[in-house]
Amino acid sequence: MKGFEYLQEEMDRLRERSSFHQLVEIASEQSGRVQIGGREVIQLSSNNYLGLTTHPKMKAAAFRAIEKLGTGTGSVRTIAGTFSMHVELERKLAAFKHTEASLVFQSGFTANVGVLSALLDEQDIVISDALNHASIIDGIRLTKAARRIYQHADMGDLEKALQETQHYRKRIVVTDGVFSMDGDVAPLPDIVELAEMYDALIMVDDAHASGVFGRNGRGTVDHFDLNGRVHIQVGTLSKAIGVLGGYVASSSAVCEYLIQRARPFLFSTSHPPAVTAACLAAVDVLLNEQGLIDRLWENTRFFKQGLQDLGFDIGKSESPITPVIVGDEALTMKFSDRLFAEGVMGTCIGYPTVPAGAARVRTIVTAVHTKEDLQTALDVFAKVGRELKLIT
Ligand SMILES: *Cc1c(COP(=O)(O)O)cnc(C)c1O
Repeated sequence: MKGFEYLQEEMDRLRERSSFHQLVEIASEQSGRVQIGGREVIQLSSNNYLGLTTHPKMKAAAFRAIEKLGTGTGSVRTIAGTFSMHVELERKLAAFKHTEASLVFQSGFTANVGVLSALLDEQDIVISDALNHASIIDGIRLTKAARRIYQHADMGDLEKALQETQHYRKRIVVTDGVFSMDGDVAPLPDIVELAEMYDALIMVDDAHASGVFGRNGRGTVDHFDLNGRVHIQVGTLSKAIGVLGGYVASSSAVCEYLIQRARPFLFSTSHPPAVTAACLAAVDVLLNEQGLIDRLWENTRFFKQGLQDLGFDIGKSESPITPVIVGDEALTMKFSDRLFAEGVMGTCIGYPTVPAGAARVRTIVTAVHTKEDLQTALDVFAKVGRELKLIT
């Protein structure tokens, strides 16, 4: 059928870029090592920080839920009924996050889109960090509110934005807790102080911090002891939690209002029982298995130190996300390809996801990588880095 032939040319252009997405098929579970094309590869690209994708307690909970409740929910929650399990998870997440209430969405992406589009209108403004996640950007696109972007983590520029926008009815400062491409942590204590001074609301998206920062993985708000001072916390159940989903942890008023107005909640079917049961079990794992979080950080320190000792530029990450910054797009693509050929999977990330000239291979270690996995990966980084003259 004729109509989209022009896409071929566009695709040829995209293929040249370091941001071109190749779908790599994995034939095993997601873990520290994965099966790809009949080979075993060390996985340094997943967000599976704690290795929970394969946790036996979560798998068992999912099996039990399927036996008892089946595979699907058959509807959005406002129409054919909300499963008790959905409500139980929301209570559990609210207690975990020390908030009055929480509301679960199908994903972190839909949580951001839902909350931003529902809570703001023409009289309001979103004040957003320049490096916030795509789902925040899309949420902002869907609101009628005005927007002001401040320079990444720049408190001078944030203050300027707060001074310039005092005529709006409601102002909300939105930031990622941990930034996904550089692994740096938002200066939350300063953000909260400024927002309080200028009477603005605060929303923190802790997708990369849930399960990683704070006591038992409660996130950056807990990490910085700011409980009760951040109006809206968004979390994901898809990264360290090892399943799928997103949630808003906030006041009862906000969560009840979102049930009425958040469009992804209202117009897209709720999580199947297996997903919700696994998430419920995951919260127990976070509460009872501190050892996993300790191991994640131990592995993080070991791997960062190793890369640094080899002479790589690893930026200024403060999290298990460690970028290996190369700069040139073509060279970074080659670096990533060669690492993969040698058995290490590290995502190549280039413009426009990161600024031009700052292309990198992004690595994320997990709690389930063994020291041997990480040492092997470091040896491969050393070999390929020398081959491409990135290090000496
Ligand atoms: C990954 C991510 C999301 C999306 O979460 P999903 O549950 O995968 O949809 C939202 N915000 C940030 C900051 C993220 O890193």
